[in-house]
Amino acid sequence: MIAGLTPYVPGEQPRVANLVKLNTNENPYPASPRVLQAVTAAAQQGLQLYPDPESTQLRQAIAQHHGIDADQVFVGNGSDEVLAHAFFAFFQQDQPLLMPDVTYSFYQVYCQLYGIGVQLIPLDDALQVCVADYSGVAAGGVVLANPNAPTGRLLALADIEQLLQSHPQQVVLVDEAYIDFGGASAISLIDRYPNLLVVQTLSKSRSLAGLRVGFAAGSRQLIEALERVKNSFNSYPLDKLAQAGAVAAYEDTAYFEQTRQAVMQSRETLALALELQGFKVLPSATNFVFVRHPQHDALMLAQRLRDSGILVRHFKLPRIDQYLRISIGTPEQCDALAQALWRLTSAAA
Ligand SMILES: *Cc1c(COP(=O)(O)O)cnc(C)c1O
Repeated sequence: MIAGLTPYVPGEQPRVANLVKLNTNENPYPASPRVLQAVTAAAQQGLQLYPDPESTQLRQAIAQHHGIDADQVFVGNGSDEVLAHAFFAFFQQDQPLLMPDVTYSFYQVYCQLYGIGVQLIPLDDALQVCVADYSGVAAGGVVLANPNAPTGRLLALADIEQLLQSHPQQVVLVDEAYIDFGGASAISLIDRYPNLLVVQTLSKSRSLAGLRVGFAAGSRQLIEALERVKNSFNSYPLDKLAQAGAVAAYEDTAYFEQTRQAVMQSRETLALALELQGFKVLPSATNFVFVRHPQHDALMLAQRLRDSGILVRHFKLPRIDQYLRISIGTPEQCDALAQALWRLTSAAA
């Protein structure tokens, strides 16, 4: 069984310096200075004791930010761990789990790990989720990334509500890894829909991919189920430094606003520059753009960018193998990328 697993393959973390790294959707800005202060202070207090197994302060900080109660929040070692526990708790059903044919590829890895059946629902021709296609399909649950990855496209909350109403007996999991870059969070709906679980991460919009913190928000019943799974697996998924740093990230709202606005601004500038070069750029509500060039092969462009020291992500997958996923960097990194693509697409044309 283990030999048959096909694990998720994360984007490359190169060991050489000076690469422009636009391949794994990390934030180009460092975490708030207050995060570093908090982590340092927590370390100085000593690490000989176990951390708070309930991450109480952190769950309170997250709850306060979203106007919900701490017992509607579950935290984990990155949202990948939260997602894994949610798949284990909610989707081992007789009916298959519904998900888009193009989405975060880790979902299918969890399904393989836990023996969950999958039914893929194709995105429409514009690579958008069409929620009407999910209704009337026998399902053990629904999972969506909103905005979707790697397309970057956003669904309105009205569409999420339609999904929740068409699957009232199933858990609908909405993975909002990128929601802070331009979308409205479905966390505002959890009091009305006990079947809704919203998952977010501090890795992208809060510049903390290295700290490993993610969370889920949902009804007390769903959160309690996640707690049971977690406490049957690892009592201390979040270490003392991660809890302290994550709390500080929520306290520095000004820094959060400033950096996410900067990323969104750079995204619009980059999208325009690439469109002027002839790229087709999907509308993005994330910290990346998903682009293709009608005359240039995407894999070849990715390889040539790499030769000039710029990493972007290419997926050898059906429907999207002519696209590049480019993370939003600093303005300087975005300029370097745009110039490199201009050289490649105009010279070799
Ligand atoms: C990055 C990402 C995650 C994982 O985030 P971590 O909290 O770093 O584990 C989950 N879902 C999607 C769609 C992502 O892009």
